[in-house]
Amino acid sequence: MKNLPPNLYPLTAFLGHVHLLVDGDECVLIDTGMLGELRFIKNQLHQLGLDWTSIKAILLTHGHLDHAGNLAALVKITGAKVYGHPEEQIHLEGKFPYRGVNRVCGWLEALGRGVVRYKPGAIDEFVQDGQELPFWGGLQVIHLPGHTRGHCGYYSPKHDFLFAGDLFLSYFCFHYLPPFIFSNCPERFKGSYEKVRDLNPSGILPAHYINADGRRFRRSIDIIWQRNFSRK
Ligand SMILES: [Zn+2]
Ligand SMILES: [Zn+2]
Repeated sequence: MKNLPPNLYPLTAFLGHVHLLVDGDECVLIDTGMLGELRFIKNQLHQLGLDWTSIKAILLTHGHLDHAGNLAALVKITGAKVYGHPEEQIHLEGKFPYRGVNRVCGWLEALGRGVVRYKPGAIDEFVQDGQELPFWGGLQVIHLPGHTRGHCGYYSPKHDFLFAGDLFLSYFCFHYLPPFIFSNCPERFKGSYEKVRDLNPSGILPAHYINADGRRFRRSIDIIWQRNFSRK
């Protein structure tokens, strides 16, 4: 792990990462994982001298199963308040009306929900672009649609660091947009990339990656921009 702010603990989940942000004896989770990650979260909390009740909030980047699969279980254990964009609630309920090639995403999610015996979670507080949340020294909601309509990142002005969810994926030296079959409104990616380039954080973490490196993932934004949007 390189170029990450202090008190940030990336936890490797079944398909991506859950991020634990610690502030004294309180913490928040960005996303929840989908299968069997509760043990990793619990172990990390214990190593830090914390417990389930230390988790005060769960911030959802979006409602796909690999990000929200453990949501209901975590809320039950922690009593944490769930924050997310209003357009993601329908994903949590498994009722999003996927269309065209995107229906593959809906089929896979339906299959996955059966495998992990998914129980629908619920958003307690709907967030909107620019909203300030009182966690980790302050986190700002950055609405970044494209992958889903309500997909949000969370930006820490204190650390100049953005949690970008599924705005992109990064494996080894490959940086790319999420596959379009998994993205509901890919025509909105360009605007979201413009927004992140304007924000210009010094570090970024997406959810799906190998070897966390905040500065390298910041460069992913420019690489993907050049490749996909700069001449369109
Ligand atoms: Zn996703
Ligand atoms: Zn994902």
